[in-house]
Amino acid sequence: MKVAIASGKGGTGKTTVSAALTSVWNRPVIAVDLDVEAPNLHLFLKPQIVGQQKAHIEVPVADESKCSYCRACAELCQFKAISVFGNVLLTFTDMCHGCGGCLAICPEKALLPGQRELGEILWGQADDNRFLMGRSRIGEAMSPPLMRAVKKKLQVMLHESPADVLIDAPPGVSCPAVNAAMDADVIVLVTEPTPFGLYDLQLAHEAFLPLGKPMGIVINRAGLGEDKVYNFCRSKDLPIWAQIPYDCRIAVAYSHSRIVADVSPQFKALFMGLADKINQAGVIAGTVCHA
Ligand code: SF4
Ligand code: SF4
Repeated sequence: MKVAIASGKGGTGKTTVSAALTSVWNRPVIAVDLDVEAPNLHLFLKPQIVGQQKAHIEVPVADESKCSYCRACAELCQFKAISVFGNVLLTFTDMCHGCGGCLAICPEKALLPGQRELGEILWGQADDNRFLMGRSRIGEAMSPPLMRAVKKKLQVMLHESPADVLIDAPPGVSCPAVNAAMDADVIVLVTEPTPFGLYDLQLAHEAFLPLGKPMGIVINRAGLGEDKVYNFCRSKDLPIWAQIPYDCRIAVAYSHSRIVADVSPQFKALFMGLADKINQAGVIAGTVCHA
């Protein structure tokens, strides 16, 4: 079973939940940080990194001596990553999505495959669990290609030894967040009972609903604010799987990069209960047969 832990906005406690769930999961699991622009799951799980590799995307490199300035490449590229002005050919490789279309269409073979570094992929062991993360190169504007590379590595790890997968997804509801959630069997949405929390939960619900996956809510900082988040969950038949109290001990644990489930038996039980709810949703969805 693959579980995506997502949220409509950053700072709701998504990584706190991901780390705690990993620590209480009762089957072999790979914890994956797909929040490649700002990965921080490793700060809590403290994995021993055993391997890493750079990830690249294929971008065009022009050999202008062969170019006839026919403009076919510029007209094809939907991302404006190539422009032709008279007898000048310009490539903007930071905007290239690596589709390879311009290389295929060029009649003069004036475009050759080059590489742009996307970032790096790191993997290792965190206690009994395996760990995998992507980390974007500073200045890299696109995260989905690196996320795809991380997912490819995940397939290799799953092939080596099957396991459940807990994905710390990027925050928000844009392409990277949906990209992380689309392969999941179950989606956990972390929110907080505040106007911002409600607004972003509504967006997240709207974005993820078309994926047709079982979804449940974790309310972090429960007791902090108002009850509109609860009303929204009720109105959309969204089950509340766990409520993490607004408790100073959690803030202290976070500031020391500690896993919240380790703070007290009460918190451990809370996350074990959440794991049960996720597994039940997986059973109903037909993705867990051994819960
Ligand atoms: S398609 Fe090839 S020949 Fe035509 S403008 Fe682009 S690089 Fe030059
Ligand atoms: S590879 Fe695709 S995205 Fe990149 S410049 Fe060529 S056509 Fe544009």
